[in-house]
Amino acid sequence: MRIIDVHTHPTLKSVLQGRTAAQMRRLIAHGRRHGIVHMVALGDVLRFGFKPDAAQLRLINNDTALLPRAFPEYFTALVYLNPLLGERATMAEAERCAALPGFRGIKLEVACNSAHPCMRHVAKAARTFNLVVLQHSWSTSNMVKDRTYQSDPIDTAMFARRNPDVQVIMAHLTGIGFRGVLEAKSLPNLYIDTSGGWPEEELVEFAVEHLGPDRLLYGSDIPVRENAITIGRILGSRLSAAERHKVFFANTARLLNLKLN
Ligand SMILES: [Zn+2]
Repeated sequence: MRIIDVHTHPTLKSVLQGRTAAQMRRLIAHGRRHGIVHMVALGDVLRFGFKPDAAQLRLINNDTALLPRAFPEYFTALVYLNPLLGERATMAEAERCAALPGFRGIKLEVACNSAHPCMRHVAKAARTFNLVVLQHSWSTSNMVKDRTYQSDPIDTAMFARRNPDVQVIMAHLTGIGFRGVLEAKSLPNLYIDTSGGWPEEELVEFAVEHLGPDRLLYGSDIPVRENAITIGRILGSRLSAAERHKVFFANTARLLNLKLN
């Protein structure tokens, strides 16, 4: 079983810090024990709060960049952006990071809702520098109600619908839930990662049934969540061996064009 983890935060201030070579080696050993052959690092996204400025984004992205620079075979990176800073800042930081080793996408958190007009700058950066967009998403119908910051699956689906030539990952399968899967269903450029809260019965099967087996990507959100539980979420569901391989490995390898041995 080989796994690519599309949703990790190695540089988060916690036990799994990835800023020094020793910490990175410890993180890789942790991953390999779980069958994870590659991680996609999203950065310490809330280090400066919801709305980081340009200088703060650079600090976060420079930390993320350490990982693929030191261990290119193990880490891919996403550039963290705050779309509210406008077109010039968004394009500049995306261009800077796209030129660094290992950056393949853009990570968005809670600076703004993903249906906000400023998201057109993100779409432009994604097109210009050939980057996928991973958007933090959570259903606003249960615990989280404020859609100023939170992107409901409706909002992330709207961004994907407006930009059919941009590949979008809606984060947190168990956060967006059954309704989120249905919002994504008709949009071939919209993928879902399997991170989120505790496993929920039938949800993984429901996602594969409605999206097909090619648009679901294994993600953990470590160190916020544990790999044993997030892997168990997939192993405990009724997928065929071929579907499991797609979710764990092949879909992310294809989407991010990863050439792994
Ligand atoms: Zn995350």
